[in-house]
Amino acid sequence: MARKTITVLGATGSVGCSTLDLIGRNPDRFEVVALTANSDVKGLAAAAIATGARRAVIGDEAMRPALSEALAGTGIEAAAGCAAVIEAAAMGADLVMAAIVGTAGLRPAMAAIEAGSALALANKESLVSAGALMIRAAVARGVIILPVDSEHNAVFQCFDRERPENVSRVILTASGGPFRDWDHDAMRAVTPERAVQHPNWSMGAKISVDSATMMNKGLELIEARHLFGLPPDRYDILVHPQSVVHSLVEYRDGSVLAQLGAPDMRTPIAYALAWPDRIDTPCARLDLAALGRLDFEPPDAERFPALRVARAAMEEGGARPAILNAANEEAVAAFLAGRICFLDIVAIVERVLERYDPPAPSALDDVLAIDGEARLRARELMERQAA
Ligand code: NAD
Ligand code: MG
Repeated sequence: MARKTITVLGATGSVGCSTLDLIGRNPDRFEVVALTANSDVKGLAAAAIATGARRAVIGDEAMRPALSEALAGTGIEAAAGCAAVIEAAAMGADLVMAAIVGTAGLRPAMAAIEAGSALALANKESLVSAGALMIRAAVARGVIILPVDSEHNAVFQCFDRERPENVSRVILTASGGPFRDWDHDAMRAVTPERAVQHPNWSMGAKISVDSATMMNKGLELIEARHLFGLPPDRYDILVHPQSVVHSLVEYRDGSVLAQLGAPDMRTPIAYALAWPDRIDTPCARLDLAALGRLDFEPPDAERFPALRVARAAMEEGGARPAILNAANEEAVAAFLAGRICFLDIVAIVERVLERYDPPAPSALDDVLAIDGEARLRARELMERQAA
């Protein structure tokens, strides 16, 4: 059997490392074309050498000499800069894992689609900002988008794509994050160190903060809307603190299909890597008898206003999700840098949305212009607030 060729964008991150772990366990199945990272030269070079990658690309231009030095004599091509990351995405691998965080992953993900590669999509922000354009490009090119986000991967596994008219609801589960049962006053004093400690998942800093505000679930609503195509009122959120039921699909006859598993991202990543086949993983097996119970509760949009703000952006469509996403990225970065407090994150996003209402984007450049303007406005608001 010919090996599946794979490129990993964001190879040094949480999803990237889990992807490489699985590739390393299946050398007879997968072959690495290119790996990219933003600034971690050491991690990138080590991964490229370990996997026998053809090319390693560092996003930060200034790191070019360091990467060349680290790869000297290995035969692995070294490249640097944003354009080189996009080029790596477009090398025509059988599958591209899009695991860059934030809108920075949008152009590379689109380049992979346009090159005809199947896209394993972890980078939800690209779909939130430019979902309509990405889906259109994927349909035009005949490439499949395999969701890596655990909820969407679960839905993908349960959703009858041949007969979508039989699906009545998609129910995304949410752990509720580290502050699920905290009141508003307690959340006021949350530090970045505390916010990134997720109860069930070990993830990058940005998505950990998104989980704490529950903006992550808001982004996931919009992500689901693009991936599964049902009208906005068919997506529900269900809080499930144990993160064992990864999501559910309800059919017109009342049947509900769910995908379950231990909370380990390597399961959905393995699914996307091997699809339509399956591979072994070292993930813990689910022992429901040992767990004894699973809990569910409705989401609380009072304490987690991100849910309300994101749902409105999903319903309104057009440029709203791109603005939401960009303002959120800026606000999360400011929170992680200690410049704003936890409750300010969603407040900033909401204020940017209130004052900026451009027409719907019709091309990628429009999305990136809207993204840039929303970031600028978020930063101005935060500076004014600090002064
Ligand atoms: P991370 O911060 O751990 O890793 C991000 C990766 O992107 C790194 O390799 C980094 O070098 C690269 N990167 C960052 N900025 C870049 C830029 N400007 N140009 C090029 N590369 C850049 O993030 P993560 O937790 O692995 O998440 C990656 C994506 O997957 C996010 O969109 C996140 O929402 C999504 N996701 C993650 C998880 C998880 O368990 N970590 C689960 C579901 C979805
Ligand atoms: Mg998720």
